[in-house]
Amino acid sequence: MKNLKNALLLKQLYQLQELGYKFIDNLNIDNSQEKKDNILPNSINKLNTIISKCQLCQLSKNSKSPILSMGNPQSDIIFIGNKPTILDSNNSSIFSGNRGDMLRNIIQNVLELDDFYLANIIKCYPPNGREVLANEVYSCKSYILKEIEIIKPKIIITLGEDTYSYLTNKDINFQDIEGTIIKYSNYYIMPIVDISTVLKNPSYKKKLYMNMLKLKEFIKNM
Ligand code: SF4
Repeated sequence: MKNLKNALLLKQLYQLQELGYKFIDNLNIDNSQEKKDNILPNSINKLNTIISKCQLCQLSKNSKSPILSMGNPQSDIIFIGNKPTILDSNNSSIFSGNRGDMLRNIIQNVLELDDFYLANIIKCYPPNGREVLANEVYSCKSYILKEIEIIKPKIIITLGEDTYSYLTNKDINFQDIEGTIIKYSNYYIMPIVDISTVLKNPSYKKKLYMNMLKLKEFIKNM
């Protein structure tokens, strides 16, 4: 019941924001107040130690363990997914299986990048892969914000509609922004389709490939 109340409260706050009301938005990627109050360590290793023991929300009860990010923390590019899959949870590894293989294949063979960083906004697998709740996003989001703050990527690639919304708090029609490179304060964000969607429906492949070529061009000129 408390979770439902939190989710409804958050929804009402967003609606008020859309009507023009201003409030301190703790979910904002660039909120300076949040950064000031953020007491998480400025080290990926130390951050991972904290995440590994995290029990901030009820997802810790279901998940075997949080699925940590992977890759080079010096990288200019972060790929961010929404939440771990059951396979990720079973393997204790982010972007496992076909989804991860396809993503890595694109990164290495289309983008021709060796250095990259893979992360999820939500670190724990939700029961039966259900949609995450607003309070769970709220609880977990400070970790990805800290990762972004530490890594300082030049571009962030968000995978899937929810990921972009969770990260930016923007409720935008995904079709309008998919494949566009959006300046967001100190960062650029490119929202793309989730790889699992492409695996389920190969008709999305062509658009994904075209977007990756656009990204490759952007990276070349960074
Ligand atoms: S989902 Fe995030 S906030 Fe919730 S328990 Fe896992 S690591 Fe902690």
